Amino acid sequence: MSTLREALLQVSTRLAQAGLNPGTAGNVGVRDGDGVLITPSGMPVERITAHDMVWLGFDGRIQGVREPSSEWRLHHAILRTRPDIHAVIHTHSMFASTLSCLRRDVPPIHYMIAVTGARTIRCAPYALFGTQACADAAAEALLGSKACLLANHGMVALGRDLDDALAVALAVEELCEQYWRALQAGTPCVLSDAEMDAVFERFKSYGSTNNDTKTTARS
Ligand code: 13P
Ligand code: ZN
Repeated sequence: MSTLREALLQVSTRLAQAGLNPGTAGNVGVRDGDGVLITPSGMPVERITAHDMVWLGFDGRIQGVREPSSEWRLHHAILRTRPDIHAVIHTHSMFASTLSCLRRDVPPIHYMIAVTGARTIRCAPYALFGTQACADAAAEALLGSKACLLANHGMVALGRDLDDALAVALAVEELCEQYWRALQAGTPCVLSDAEMDAVFERFKSYGSTNNDTKTTARS
């Protein structure tokens, strides 16, 4: 069975392989008791081992052999205020970062925005990376949502676990690419509130049959 440290490394590796976090950009954290287990600061994922992950308690206690991610305040701010959330991913992925440089919210131009639980991916106001101001701006932009952009920086994606946060991060990057591409070709049509209401309704049952271990295929 893989440990939380190994799972953190696996997700960090998948983000790098998917091209979402080149070099030392971004970080991943997962709730671990009264704190967060988080990736180390400034290390490319190829050099990180499970042993390098750092535990940071909400009360300031620290356990680890490395310096924790400079964005630990961001992870703490989210995990402390969102009991529904257990994993946080921050990326500098190309399309999310590009839109963040325009300081632009992403509207519902594709129904898959519903995976964030909200109709809009808000862009948090600019603040220096690693600061409490950046953490607070992100936490506010994330109210009622599992994703936001950070102005002139990147994105934050949340999940009930690491796999869920990874799925949200991949979906948000795809949505940002779609929005960017649509903007090049014209003025994207935005789904109405009623159309998004219908999407949220349908999402309540989407995939549930195939993910229910008790059910078998219809003959
Ligand atoms: P860390 O390497 O300290 O996690 O920082 C990367 C980053 O994305 C800062 O915003
Ligand atoms: Zn960053």
